[in-house]
Amino acid sequence: MDAEVFRAWIVSAAGAIEANRDHLTQLDAAIGDADHGINLSRGFTAVLGALDSAAKTPGAILTLTGNTLISKVGGASGPLYGTAFRRAGKALGGAADVDSPALAAALEAALAGVQQLGAAREGDKTMVDALAPATRAFSKAIADGAAPDDTLSVLAEAASAGAAATVSMQALKGRASYLGPRSVGHEDPGAASTALILAALRDAARAGR
Ligand code: ADP
Ligand code: MG
Repeated sequence: MDAEVFRAWIVSAAGAIEANRDHLTQLDAAIGDADHGINLSRGFTAVLGALDSAAKTPGAILTLTGNTLISKVGGASGPLYGTAFRRAGKALGGAADVDSPALAAALEAALAGVQQLGAAREGDKTMVDALAPATRAFSKAIADGAAPDDTLSVLAEAASAGAAATVSMQALKGRASYLGPRSVGHEDPGAASTALILAALRDAARAGR
């Protein structure tokens, strides 16, 4: 996967966030403060504006994305997603082309960054509940010898299943935790947006082949 695929990923992720802006905001209205779609839409619009030709490698594109999200998104999700993209970008370094194991390492780094910053564990009903199982399933698919397209389908599907599984969880981190048991019965907005972003990666990689 080269810089063009990563650029296409970010463009596709921005499109998915825009298309699901109201849905994400409604999820956040149920257990938060009704701004998740608005926050990410603002952030990814700024990312599209910042994605100039100066970012020439996959790592540089992800680092630019992370820096922009941190500077433009005020909510909890801005620093968390920003850190995720920055850590992933740093893990990729200056490589012009990224293979599956390198991408797996970047996802591991992103997850570690989110957990270091937000201290959420799996089961706390956050974006970690989409990112962690997706990262694990992706690494396992690679170890099992799956084809690149299939590993990315596994990644996206595990993220989506992880997001769906947050419905029955009680939030222990973030704004939704203030609701206590009343947070049960709703999908976590950050887990839902993580599933969208990782589905966009699958789609961009597929289109780039
Ligand atoms: P805010 O909560 O500040 O309004 P957003 O609405 O944009 O920010 O994002 C909310 C999402 O952020 C949650 O749905 C959850 O997935 C994620 N989140 C919040 N706190 C944490 C945390 N400590 N660790 C991981 N993710 C978190
Ligand atoms: Mg919110």
